[in-house]
Amino acid sequence: ATPTALMVGTARSAKMGVLIKNGEVLQEVSKLDTVVFDKTGTITVGKPEVTDVIGDKELVLKVAASLEESSEHPLASAILKKAVSEKIVPQTVKEFAALEGKGVKATFENQDAFVGSSRLLADVPISAELSQKANQLQNEAKTVVYVGLNDKIIGLIAIQDMPKPSSKKAIAELKARGLKTIMLTGDNEAVAQAIANEVGIDQVIAGVLPNEKAAHIQELQKNDATVAFVGDGINDAPALSTADVGIAMGSGTDIAIDAGGIVLVQNDLLGVVRALDLSKKTFNRIK
Ligand code: ADP
Ligand code: MG
Repeated sequence: ATPTALMVGTARSAKMGVLIKNGEVLQEVSKLDTVVFDKTGTITVGKPEVTDVIGDKELVLKVAASLEESSEHPLASAILKKAVSEKIVPQTVKEFAALEGKGVKATFENQDAFVGSSRLLADVPISAELSQKANQLQNEAKTVVYVGLNDKIIGLIAIQDMPKPSSKKAIAELKARGLKTIMLTGDNEAVAQAIANEVGIDQVIAGVLPNEKAAHIQELQKNDATVAFVGDGINDAPALSTADVGIAMGSGTDIAIDAGGIVLVQNDLLGVVRALDLSKKTFNRIK
């Protein structure tokens, strides 16, 4: 590959909103056979909205919003927005802690409280009714967070994050070019599968903790896959640098953007298809 041809390739891609760090990255793109996607903010818009509150609505939202006020997670913004719209004023909590990939906990009015995934349920009993309701909501592609107070589950909050309009088309285009598509997410299996079905993703790896994402990429590489990882979050940086090609969303965190060999300025997965087509053209032309 001559440097000049690579420069042309990357300049042309820049016009399409696909920033490619260097020619080697473009060459790696031409070898890809697998694309792994983060869910929130990558396949989905990343602006989740609360759709259902199960339990004593006032109390459930009050506890949840009070805890989430100190969190920067997209789910936290959704819960706070809902609380505001219901005129619920969050209270100051003590001993706040973010549990990466699981949720948040704190002391609320002298009681232990948490908001988060089923991973936080370990020693907390949940009624058959609530657990059935949670399953139902998850099958509707809604992320369910459990609200715990004083060793009891007092309610559920269901949150929906819609796929980006172009995600389905981009996945179809990648599959048409013979690539395998995989979703890698910390969210629950049922939710992940429901969203994967909507956009046509081949395989789902769910319930993955943030620090486990890179290991899943390595596992695929061990099985001879040449892998791109597409993500946006702080937690995605290790997976972005481990993958053969790291592709960051332009709307993503600075850390993700730094870790990516490609940045999609328009936050649109069709950029992955463009990068692929460009690399094929470039390397067929100059090899
Ligand atoms: P993703 O892979 O979709 O980016 P994360 O790894 O950030 O997801 O989170 C995984 C799961 O942990 C979420 O689906 C949610 O159930 C729970 N969770 C994480 N942070 C929070 C939070 N601040 N409030 C409630 N739940 C949370
Ligand atoms: Mg994410």
